[in-house]
Amino acid sequence: MSDLSVPMLDLKAQYASIKDEIDPAIAGVLESQWCIGGPEVQALEEEIAAYCGTSHAAGCASGTDAILMPLMAIGIKPGDEVICPTFTFFATAGCIVRLGGVPVFADIDPVTFNMTEETVRAAAARCTNLKAIIPVDLYGQAVDMDAMLKLGEEFGVPIIEDAAQAIGARDAKGQRVGSRGLYGCFSFYPTKNLGAMGDAGIITTKDPEAYDRLKAMGNHGMKPKYYHSEVGLNSRLDAIQAAVLRVKLKHLDQWSEKRASNAAFYDRTFAEAGAKTNATPLDEGDFPLRTPQPPTLPATHIYHQYVISVPGTIRDDLRTQLGKKGIGTEIYYPLSLHEQACFTDLGYAKGDLPVSELAAQQTIAIPIHPELSDAQLEYVTGNVIKFVNQCSPIAQV
Ligand SMILES: *Cc1c(COP(=O)(O)O)cnc(C)c1O
Repeated sequence: MSDLSVPMLDLKAQYASIKDEIDPAIAGVLESQWCIGGPEVQALEEEIAAYCGTSHAAGCASGTDAILMPLMAIGIKPGDEVICPTFTFFATAGCIVRLGGVPVFADIDPVTFNMTEETVRAAAARCTNLKAIIPVDLYGQAVDMDAMLKLGEEFGVPIIEDAAQAIGARDAKGQRVGSRGLYGCFSFYPTKNLGAMGDAGIITTKDPEAYDRLKAMGNHGMKPKYYHSEVGLNSRLDAIQAAVLRVKLKHLDQWSEKRASNAAFYDRTFAEAGAKTNATPLDEGDFPLRTPQPPTLPATHIYHQYVISVPGTIRDDLRTQLGKKGIGTEIYYPLSLHEQACFTDLGYAKGDLPVSELAAQQTIAIPIHPELSDAQLEYVTGNVIKFVNQCSPIAQV
């Protein structure tokens, strides 16, 4: 293994591969001077709606706004409770709190890292004023949407799916994320699988009324022009970002396939070294590395992240060692939301949501982006296996 550098992402390489399409698309917007809204934004909204299998999509300024606006559209107000996972990016819960709502945190499944029927039920049992459920498709894998919809119906609340990490992923019914709840929320942050060249987001829905409410919300609650019956915000999608995203959308499935084939290489190579998947019980003396359990078709994983688990005692050392070898890694996330300093007033204690707490200690994401070469993939697996082999086998992973 000669020394290589393997960054978590290589956006320069991605740009180089599509520069001859991106540059004229941006130039077209400059010529048109349709800076906000206009034909590029409308075309992107239609293309994303078609891609996700919904009838409507509304562009907005970020993935965070793509969660905030649906919560405003359904009328979340101070004291309202919203269930969301504790193991997710902060925005999922931050949006609830910005409206005065109370996030009620649910634990996750140790195999998929997503909420399950049981964990949502446990959270619901602590609610007295539940108004919505926000499942997250973490790392690019769809949540069990059948279970979420069933619970939404049972509790009489809408499902707002935070699909920010999972555009294009299919659920157990073969349907794309963002197509089955009341709203689907997407981020086009530059590091997401479909990334803009600045901030951008989009919200999908199949419900024309829900769409109208959203459009009004994103334009200061204005309907008709200069008449405001409620207070919204300004959240719009720039035409330059829409033009960039329309070019990239054409390549998205091919990029997702390359991510999946990188993941298959990792799965195979780590398994040959003795790793088991998250779904398999570990026995005493087993190789202390776990890999994601690939979903069964028609469900798909778009591998926004490829996340492995090692014992918490060696996770940070693994990260340091890989860093010294030029291999980028990231911890998504080092602390569950119920343990964050800003949420201490919500009254959670350590041990309340144990699967998430363990995941925060044991998980580490390794590079999975579509621009990785075979040599880079081998360099990553070689170094991970070498490090884990040096550690004595431990039963508890
Ligand atoms: C990225 C992300 C967001 C927020 O998106 P921004 O575009 O950065 O505002 C929300 N939820 C999840 C799960 C994310 O990964």
